Amino acid sequence: MIYVEPAPIKDKENPFESMMSRFHIASQALGLNDEVYNVLKNPVKQVIVSLPITMDDGSIRVFEGYRVIHSNILGPSKGGVRYDMGVNLDEVKALAAWMTWKCAVVDIPYGGAKGGIKCNPRQMSSGEIERLTRAYTQEMINIFGPDRDIPAPDMGTGPREMAWLMDEFSRAHGMTVNAVVTGKPLVLGGSLGRAEATGRGVMVSAFAAMEKLRINPYQATVAVQGFGNVGSFAALLMEERGCKVTAISDISGAYYNPQGINVKDALTYRDANNGTLAGYNGGERINGDDLLTLQVDILVPAAMEDVITVRNAEQIHARLIVEGANGPTSARADEIINNKGVLVVPDILANAGGVTVSYFEWVQNRLGYKWTRDRVNRRSDRIMKDAFERVYQTALKYGVSMRIAAYIVAIDKVANTYKYRGGF
Ligand code: NAD
Repeated sequence: MIYVEPAPIKDKENPFESMMSRFHIASQALGLNDEVYNVLKNPVKQVIVSLPITMDDGSIRVFEGYRVIHSNILGPSKGGVRYDMGVNLDEVKALAAWMTWKCAVVDIPYGGAKGGIKCNPRQMSSGEIERLTRAYTQEMINIFGPDRDIPAPDMGTGPREMAWLMDEFSRAHGMTVNAVVTGKPLVLGGSLGRAEATGRGVMVSAFAAMEKLRINPYQATVAVQGFGNVGSFAALLMEERGCKVTAISDISGAYYNPQGINVKDALTYRDANNGTLAGYNGGERINGDDLLTLQVDILVPAAMEDVITVRNAEQIHARLIVEGANGPTSARADEIINNKGVLVVPDILANAGGVTVSYFEWVQNRLGYKWTRDRVNRRSDRIMKDAFERVYQTALKYGVSMRIAAYIVAIDKVANTYKYRGGF
């Protein structure tokens, strides 16, 4: 009998521990045996590298870089690279596991990984970031690869860094290998539809859930926390399909208009205003936290982790929560929300539209052919709808929340594939 750790932390509101506690609950519901539980819990590879970089002033600074491959059971591992001072091995390990479940739940043939460099890109020049990215790629030259491990942007990185990574990898191999990374600029093989993919998947999930709850979209009100990549597209696409978005927010505060915010105008305002809604007058300015407890039908947390907690869960009025952000609800808040009868479309399902279109980018690179935006959207919508239905039916079958059901779907898929592949 292999030792299985006791049920993880229920009191600490740490998003990664929350994630592991859900993994534990789902494994138990599934009756996963101890051996497979331990295989799936532990990452297959953890790499830490030192990166000596010549700074613009001629000095040499040494940075620490990480790449963790949590699982490559379903296929090559996939996951972003984060540039942030908070990067550490524990966080990278947890985020890598998260990617495994997210890819499995939408049934795309990838394992999960994550990487990062402990640095502050805002205090570095473009040249310094380029040298750092190229050095990191060189150190990971035998880890990365279109059939091994495929990085993508995350906090602090974007298309620019992905282009350097692709170029460095390609130089080392003496040929262009654009499928080694996703989230590239369009001219280098990026995919149409990638920018809006996550917000679009949130919208598709919200509509699938509204159908189950018999909410008429034309009468539905929506509050969206976060007006960045995910939140702004989710708000825009839901508005375009008839919903009334009554509140939006960003770091500057929240804006409430019971008659409906004009999302297109808000986007134009944000883009002309250094990317923030500060000073926006299309709605009454309210406290940012109050957005979460507004009288709306649908709440879309799309800013950051750990915003729905034991402190405010009881006050939430929405009947439906669609998690655009990663880890917006703490494990202890889950219980309160479930008891209130609120339907939650969990992060690993609701925001998987992004990784789905990253997969399409990789497929297009390997085909050497570019899909139209329409084809990308149609295919990702279908994947999101199918995944929603799979998770919804699993929730009914096991009598669990959609969150636990999403983990059950993911763990079951990876565990079954593991059994076929076998081990030592
Ligand atoms: P982003 O940086 O583009 O946008 C974040 C938004 O949240 C900004 O508008 C910011 O002002 C706002 N914000 C920050 N703190 C806030 C606060 N306290 N209250 C209200 N608003 C606040 O980031 P993004 O790419 O949209 O990511 C948002 C979330 O979605 C993150 O949790 C991210 O991990 C997750 N996610 C993103 C993607 C993707 O493809 N971009 C995919 C999956 C998950």
